[in-house]
Amino acid sequence: MTETVLILGGTKEAAALAAELVRDHPEWRVITSLAGRTKEPHPLAGEVRIGGFGGADGLAAYLRAERITRLIDATHPFARCISTNARLAAQHAGVPLEVRARPPWARQPGDIWIEVSSLEEARDAIPAGARVLLALGSQHIAPFAERADVHFLVRMIDPPETPLALPDHELLIGRPGRTAQDEVAVLSAHAITHIVCRNSGGSGAYAKIEAARQLGLPVIMRVMDAS
Ligand code: NAP
Repeated sequence: MTETVLILGGTKEAAALAAELVRDHPEWRVITSLAGRTKEPHPLAGEVRIGGFGGADGLAAYLRAERITRLIDATHPFARCISTNARLAAQHAGVPLEVRARPPWARQPGDIWIEVSSLEEARDAIPAGARVLLALGSQHIAPFAERADVHFLVRMIDPPETPLALPDHELLIGRPGRTAQDEVAVLSAHAITHIVCRNSGGSGAYAKIEAARQLGLPVIMRVMDAS
C-alpha cells in the first residue's frame, strides 16, 4: 500500500529516517517538516516543508489536506510544543502517530556532570571566573545575562538576529564538531573550563560530551523535567 508520511523533523535522526523511507519505499510520498529555525538546513531526502502549522488545529488541517497516512514525531526531545500538537492533531485527524523519542545520554565513567532542571539552576551552578561553552539555542541564553563574572563562548548555527545581552561573551558560529577531537580543539583554544548544555541524547551533539570527559571538564547538564 502506498503511504503519505509526514515526519516532524529538525534532528539528525529525522533526516536519517527520511533517507531510509525514500530509499526503501520509492513509491511513498515522504514529507519532512522543519520549523525554519536554521537558515540553511542540510539537504533532506523526499519533500520538505518549512514553517509552523499554526498550532494543533493547523497541523490537523494539514494532515487532512495532504491526506497524510502516517505521522512520525522525530523532533528534538526538548521541543515540547510540537510534540503536544502532534498528539492532538493526530487524534483529531484520525492519523496514526509514531513517536521516535531518542534516549538521553547516560553518564559514563570519567564524566563530571552537574545535573540541573532549569536554565536558572544552570546559571547559578557556574562558578565565578569560569569560561563557559554555552551550547544552547539563542532563545535559552537570556538567564545567563546576570553572570557578568563569567566569560561565555556561545555556539550557534546562525548568527543571532539581535546582539546577545551577555556582558562578557564571544560568538562561535557553526555546527558542533563531529568528533571528540574537533571539540577538544575548540575547548582548548578557548580555554574553556565548563560546558552548559542540555541532555538531548542522540549522536549529533555528543562529541562535546566526549571531549569534556577527555579534558576532565565539568558539564552543567540540563535534564528533561517530568512535566
Ligand atoms: P517547539 O517549542 O516544540 O515548537 C514551537 C513551534 O514551532 C511549534 O508550536 C510549531 O509551530 C513550530 N515547530 C516546531 N517544530 C516544527 C516542525 N518540525 N515543523 C513545523 N513546525 C514546527 O520546538 P523548538 O524547541 O522551538 O524546536 C523547533 C524545531 O527545531 C523542532 O522541529 C526540533 O526538532 C528542532 N530542534 C530543536 C532543538 C531544541 O533544542 N529545542 C534542538 C535541535 C533541533 P506551530 O504551532 O505554528 O505549528
